Amino acid sequence: MDYTTISADKIFDGNAFLQDGSALRVNEKGFILEILSSQAASTIENIKKYEGILLPGLVNAHCHLELSWMHNLIASEKGLCQFIQEVQRVRKNEIREQTIASAQRADKELYASGVSLVGDICNSDITFQIKANSPIFYHSFIELFGILKDEADEIVEKGHLLNVSLKNCMGKKAYGSSLSPHAPYSVSKKLFGGILNYNYKIGAAQSIHVHESQDELDFFLEKESCIENFLANIDRVPDDQSFKGIRPMDWALAHMSKCNKIVLVHNTVSTSKDIEKALAFSKMLWWCLCPKANLYIEKQLPALDVMLNSNLPICIGTDSLASNQSLNLIDELYTLQSHFPQLSLEMMLQWITKNGAEALDLFHQFGKIEVGRQPGICLIRKVDFQSLKLSSDSDSIRII
Ligand SMILES: [Zn+2]
Repeated sequence: MDYTTISADKIFDGNAFLQDGSALRVNEKGFILEILSSQAASTIENIKKYEGILLPGLVNAHCHLELSWMHNLIASEKGLCQFIQEVQRVRKNEIREQTIASAQRADKELYASGVSLVGDICNSDITFQIKANSPIFYHSFIELFGILKDEADEIVEKGHLLNVSLKNCMGKKAYGSSLSPHAPYSVSKKLFGGILNYNYKIGAAQSIHVHESQDELDFFLEKESCIENFLANIDRVPDDQSFKGIRPMDWALAHMSKCNKIVLVHNTVSTSKDIEKALAFSKMLWWCLCPKANLYIEKQLPALDVMLNSNLPICIGTDSLASNQSLNLIDELYTLQSHFPQLSLEMMLQWITKNGAEALDLFHQFGKIEVGRQPGICLIRKVDFQSLKLSSDSDSIRII
């Protein structure tokens, strides 16, 4: 059988660094045949040695492929309401061919940067064919919103039809999917209920944007909030106000399936108390950070030190090119490292491998270097090995 033996300055297996000098024996299809200790590797000639860190294919836990065409079209640092309004305004000029071409380019870039698994939010079928033809494994979060209770059934039905269309497009290619509420402020109690029933039956991971801005908290806590005006402007005043006075995360979790994993995206304004309450609700929560998008939209980062104190399982997403300059996970980690210098590289690498795969319920397949697996192999280059930190030039490429 054809195989190659590869090594690098360091190998990270999804959980920890292997002993320096270790090597991997990999066949032409990318299956890991053997993990060689440094002692075993030292007796072997013809080891292909890379400069940098080898690790399993990366996991981008939160992306919106279909918004890729909005790169550089949405003004930054204007806050969440302005951002959503801008997206809606720009969307009026959407040209289908352009959207497809940009999403295709983004898919290729993700793959080339070593990403093997993506949790992707979709509002339409426009990226389904791209996903069907991509070497990346996609979990599609079919995102729903609707604040009026009378429209809830129809919206769930639309979500179901999109899910059927996804299944038809994917053919024999493996994929994941579920319905996902957009955010606590954009989904009625009834729609939450419809999504819960649907996901409970299919048993897949779900996701929600939550605690993304102070405006979201204010809207729930009956303070002045631009979300109130925004909804009024589009003639969508909630006909059920029972969420008022409750924190958005509490509200959302109370209406989501406890039996499915939940990826909580953003948490820019979550507090230690929010975290404590969420943990009391379920142990199946994953905390997805999109730091560059948070800086782009809100000029703010989550209280990562508080999250680390609570030992939360963190994963990382890039969000979309509407709110980011790149879909590059190493850039996301570098941004976090710049703001939280105490972060260890080993821990951050867990976030973009093992934790991301666990969040999407695909850890049996992705996020770990183990004999018999085919997780894809990625190389992080230009690491500062003196301090074991990422440098501003660090990047990642696909090896296998
Ligand atoms: Zn998002």
